[in-house]
Amino acid sequence: MRLRNIPGAEAALREYPTFVDNPLSYKGNWKERFGNNNPIHVEIGCGKGRFINTLAERHPDINFIAVELKAEVVLRAVQRTEYKAVPNLAFVQFDASKLTDLFADHEISRIYLNFSDPWPKTRHAKRRLTYASFLNTYRQVLVADGEIHMKTDNEKLFEFSLNQFAAERFQMRNITFDLHQSKLAADNVMTEYEERFSSRGQRIYRVEASCVI
Ligand code: SAM
Repeated sequence: MRLRNIPGAEAALREYPTFVDNPLSYKGNWKERFGNNNPIHVEIGCGKGRFINTLAERHPDINFIAVELKAEVVLRAVQRTEYKAVPNLAFVQFDASKLTDLFADHEISRIYLNFSDPWPKTRHAKRRLTYASFLNTYRQVLVADGEIHMKTDNEKLFEFSLNQFAAERFQMRNITFDLHQSKLAADNVMTEYEERFSSRGQRIYRVEASCVI
């Protein structure tokens, strides 16, 4: 996601109670941050945060952590919470390739990958968030029956991801090549990118993959 550079974005983030300034200090202790033992669901690349904010409102019994690389983008996402603390929601500016620095083994229950950058060039395949090295990182931080829920508008990224899940022994279910026309549409929470792509008539692909240990 490209947003113009916002001078002072990193300092501005610290004003928001939902932003976690020292996330590495919570590795293995995220339950302390939330003050309960509820399951933890993580969205990687939350963009402007519509999806995770909606989920946090709908599911007070689940703790949500949004991981986003760019400060100016996280700022847009935390601004949705205004200056209020949301007990089950935390935002982190962090690179998902280092997820094992952020979470202890088997600390989280679910990962959402929504409209991840497709990196279409073959030489950039390792940057795709469903590349094998990322999947193995996810397996490490997910609980034994943990799940990855992925949505994309990009057919090639979807096909690549299904192959990566299969090769890395993830079990797949609820695969759809047209989410909005499927039975899964009723519970679907749209992201900003999803809204934009589907309004242009593009199909949305979705899969759930669980770890097979
Ligand atoms: N999920 C949002 C949506 O559907 O509207 C945003 C999609 S946008 C195409 C992808 C987002 O992933 C960008 O905001 C980008 O900064 C973030 N991102 C890309 N690589 C990342 C990484 N390694 N770690 C964390 N976030 C990442």
